[in-house]
Amino acid sequence: MATLQLNNVVKSFEDTQVIQGVDLEVKDQEFVVFVGPSGCGKSTLLRMIAGLESTTSGDIVIENQRVNDLGPAERGLAMVFQSYALYPHMTVEDNMGFSLKLAGENKEARREKVLEAARILQLEPLLDRKPKALSGGQRQRVAIGRAIVRNPSIFLFDEPLSNLDAALRVQMRIELARLHEELKATMIYVTHDQIEAMTMADKIVVLQGGVVEQVGSPMELYHHPRNRFVAGFIGSPK
Ligand code: ADP
Ligand code: MG
Repeated sequence: MATLQLNNVVKSFEDTQVIQGVDLEVKDQEFVVFVGPSGCGKSTLLRMIAGLESTTSGDIVIENQRVNDLGPAERGLAMVFQSYALYPHMTVEDNMGFSLKLAGENKEARREKVLEAARILQLEPLLDRKPKALSGGQRQRVAIGRAIVRNPSIFLFDEPLSNLDAALRVQMRIELARLHEELKATMIYVTHDQIEAMTMADKIVVLQGGVVEQVGSPMELYHHPRNRFVAGFIGSPK
């Protein structure tokens, strides 16, 4: 079970409050998309869930445990960023296994997990390559592989496809949907792209100015947008 609750979560940077009391419930194995324009607080919210940013107030609860005071490594999550940040001097295999090495896992255990992730992501033929010999899509798959090897209960994605060209984005959307199916994990996915949100989400969270404007399935938001902002952002005819 990998459920997540946000209870009245607030974030301020100095005097500016950028997350204005967010409540949210994420179910086990749900694919939840945070969508909204640039600067609305999507990354900040995700980073608070990940433990990379402290909360100013409010609670973050994972599997019924308050995790505000736990570090990122203790939360059972893995985050995939927009910039892949692969280690240029390491092979794909070593990039994917590095966090396991830091955690003290031996070579055989690491190799087994890396091979399984490589199978899922179809990276097996590329394990000996360095990042510079990979395409953008392949690099993004390696970055996702680094998350998979840790077997997290919740995956967090921050605009993972925004550096890819349009055709590759479509392909990666399909792959991520397949990944969600195969791993049976809870996923939280941040994007400013309405089409990504509408095609990938079980549940969409529309944010504006650090406020949740509406939460619902793509169909609910499309047919019953709560206000003009949601309608405009989702591309609803209303
Ligand atoms: P999004 O990911 O939706 O584009 P962010 O979460 O990155 O938005 O940013 C939300 C708001 O918080 C923005 O106004 C941004 O300038 C501000 N912000 C983000 N990080 C910091 C920081 N470390 N210090 C000060 N302001 C920040
Ligand atoms: Mg962002």
